[in-house]
Amino acid sequence: MSFNLFPHNDSTKVTSKDAKVDPTLQAKVIIDSIDDGVILVDESLTIQMINPSASKLCGWNTEEARGISVDSVVQLVNDKGESLEPNQNPMHLVFSSNQATTNTDLTLLSRDGQNIPIRIHITPLVNSENKVYQAVAVLNNVSEERSNEQQRADFISTASHEMRTPVAAIEGYLALALNDKVSTIDTRARGYIEKAHASTQHLGQLFQDLLTSAKAEDGRLTSHPTLVEMGDFLEQLINDLRLVATNKNLVVDFVSGSETNSSVINAKQGGERVIQPLYYVYVDPDRIREVITNLFDNAVKYTPQGKITIGLTGNDQVVQCFVRDTGTGIPKEDVPHLFQKFYRVDSSATRTVGGTGLGLFICRKIVELYNGRIWVESELNKGSTFYINFPRLSSEKAEKIQSQITATNLP
Ligand code: ADP
Repeated sequence: MSFNLFPHNDSTKVTSKDAKVDPTLQAKVIIDSIDDGVILVDESLTIQMINPSASKLCGWNTEEARGISVDSVVQLVNDKGESLEPNQNPMHLVFSSNQATTNTDLTLLSRDGQNIPIRIHITPLVNSENKVYQAVAVLNNVSEERSNEQQRADFISTASHEMRTPVAAIEGYLALALNDKVSTIDTRARGYIEKAHASTQHLGQLFQDLLTSAKAEDGRLTSHPTLVEMGDFLEQLINDLRLVATNKNLVVDFVSGSETNSSVINAKQGGERVIQPLYYVYVDPDRIREVITNLFDNAVKYTPQGKITIGLTGNDQVVQCFVRDTGTGIPKEDVPHLFQKFYRVDSSATRTVGGTGLGLFICRKIVELYNGRIWVESELNKGSTFYINFPRLSSEKAEKIQSQITATNLP
């Protein structure tokens, strides 16, 4: 059978002026000699071609692997060691999505039972009707990279943990020096110490963020999920947060709306009765407080004037919270990178505002702990809205969890 091995990249096509050299053969020689594993599958997920690197990685020899299902040869598992369902498996998904994808956090279960961390890039090959008829998977063993990452995370984690204590002590003593009741300092010294105090606070925050992000990366973030009704939770939280915004003359609003009719009638202050849907989620309230506080603090930081709106809405499946501001907005080209570690927008509007570039990364990691999703929509010089979706618990499920919690708390 013949196939085009380099469908999207003409520059890599083997061309030969020498008629004696068969281009298909040349392509085979190249593919067989590269270090990346390469596998070609057809739409019935049968392996059409597998190169020696891929066969070595999977533990199958090339002759055996050709003609059998890719699921038998490339066994992809999640971090719990469970086989990926077809709707999570990129080898399956490529035939419906028609899109090239890269996955960096998958594990391959080799034929001899080893768990090998891999990166897998899959490219669909489409026919003239734009239908995917084959797909090329490129696999790399990333064990070494993962182990280096782990060592780096361990180092950051230990270093930031150790450094937090002396920084907290310095911050404490500087605060004492600034306290009129216990110290006497002249005006010029006060100016210097105030600056030192602010920088120490920043350093302390940086160490705290580094520690949290290192933990988030290797799954060590502590989490005690419980039943949380987001409406009540947000109302209370906003009361605590409001002050930082009003100090900057920003208006703070809380809006709660519904796309569903699974609601109850609550008696509100003043005897007024309003429809108030109950948005139950199963999360650690302390972690979610961190997320909303971070988004709110950012909204305050990056909004010179106007309004911050916290919103809550949802449907039967999803609870959606959002934090909207009328601030600087975020350039389009920065939006895809915002939730990466240490990413900060480099613009005159944001450069002067202090920060670590870790806040949104931590937010994403926390939201993902609860199978949620976080994203942003933004317009430059108009403002930004950060959205978070969590899976919604039905009232029945919430009641069941509540009675379990009550039962375990009984003496
Ligand atoms: P930082 O500590 O720098 O605020 P974050 O991870 O919280 O780190 O945010 C990353 C970057 O995203 C910020 O440096 C800023 O450029 C941009 N950003 C975050 N929130 C907003 C917002 N509400 N409005 C405008 N820009 C924002």
